[in-house]
Amino acid sequence: MTSFLESKIQQFRHITTPFYYYDMALLSNTLQRLKYESDKYNFTIHYALKANANSEILQLIQRYGFGADCVSGNEVSKALDTGFEADKIVFAGVGKSDAEINTALKNKIHAFNCESIQELEVINEFAANMLMKAPVALRLNPNVSANTHKYITTGLEENKFGINQWELETIVERLKQLKNIELIGLHFHIGSQITDLSAYKSLCLKINEFQAWFLQRHIALPHLNVGGGLGIDYHQPDQNAIVDFGAYFKVFHDFLEVLPGQTIHFELGRSVVANCGSLISKVLYIKNGINTNFMILDAGMTELIRPALYQAYHKIEKLTNTEEKSKRYDVVGPICESSDCFGKALYLPTSYRGDLIAIRSTGAYGEVMSSNYNLREKVKAYYSHELL
Ligand SMILES: *Cc1c(COP(=O)(O)O)cnc(C)c1O
Repeated sequence: MTSFLESKIQQFRHITTPFYYYDMALLSNTLQRLKYESDKYNFTIHYALKANANSEILQLIQRYGFGADCVSGNEVSKALDTGFEADKIVFAGVGKSDAEINTALKNKIHAFNCESIQELEVINEFAANMLMKAPVALRLNPNVSANTHKYITTGLEENKFGINQWELETIVERLKQLKNIELIGLHFHIGSQITDLSAYKSLCLKINEFQAWFLQRHIALPHLNVGGGLGIDYHQPDQNAIVDFGAYFKVFHDFLEVLPGQTIHFELGRSVVANCGSLISKVLYIKNGINTNFMILDAGMTELIRPALYQAYHKIEKLTNTEEKSKRYDVVGPICESSDCFGKALYLPTSYRGDLIAIRSTGAYGEVMSSNYNLREKVKAYYSHELL
């Protein structure tokens, strides 16, 4: 099968590698699908900026009317600069700094997703200074396993995130004294790259229990934010370019007990942008070892850290000399770290210096996590509509 990227080789040959390439038509189709499926149930979507905060990408997402999910003060500012409406911005994070809290308060965002009693006290104090009430959703730890990599699981009691069930009574009592906090909802986020939808069913059942607990105390909350984490198919980026948002939302529609007038919020990052991005790289050298052949690329963990950081899989596709007979390679980067490896024992067409390689599904947590380790320069991004 010829991939869409192969049709771009002529343009790619003129660009200095490595670089990120974004298929904006795919992003647009993904956003249309997301909008269609979420509108069915009146669900509200906040795009998680941390997955990819490139201006071009944000502008397109904003045009579909989605809100923003931010995890830093700079993300809040960037969302506002891009045109996301303040009352569609939520701000999460286990360690919000004083300056970040004040930025968000000043801009009157929709909600702070709060993670501890101390954070509530600090926000209360700053809100009092500004003579305002801070809208807050409590980030609760549902103790639900997401069946994903341990570094991207967030909803277990052993994780640093969220407020645990046994702290709730104390927090609700304390909130009565925090006059500048307005409790508007509950927030959850159980992890990332979740492909087993039954984890979301468990989350819904847990949320129903929490909600009942609050109702017993005569607290009805207007907002439920169920977070993000929907996983994508890293193995078949062409066949499954757009995730099944319909099946995902249906789980929440079927299992979440929604109160009259209550709004349900989602924070999706990866599932929106991952598949529209590819990291394009050139083969620098082929080194034939005893047990394996090393394909040394000009891209490394400085451009894409996911494989080194949490053993993430990305499909590696050869764009040139694709007719050659296949050979076994360890595909590695040039950085002075043994973990700088994109894939081991892969069968790819025999490769030569100068061949072009695409590392697929790198639109999320790719470019945003790049670093200049080894004093490497930040690589450029190109968008499909620029390369016609
Ligand atoms: C990272 C994050 C998200 C987005 O996660 P994805 O796996 O990219 O969908 C949503 N909410 C919070 C609080 C996050 O930290």
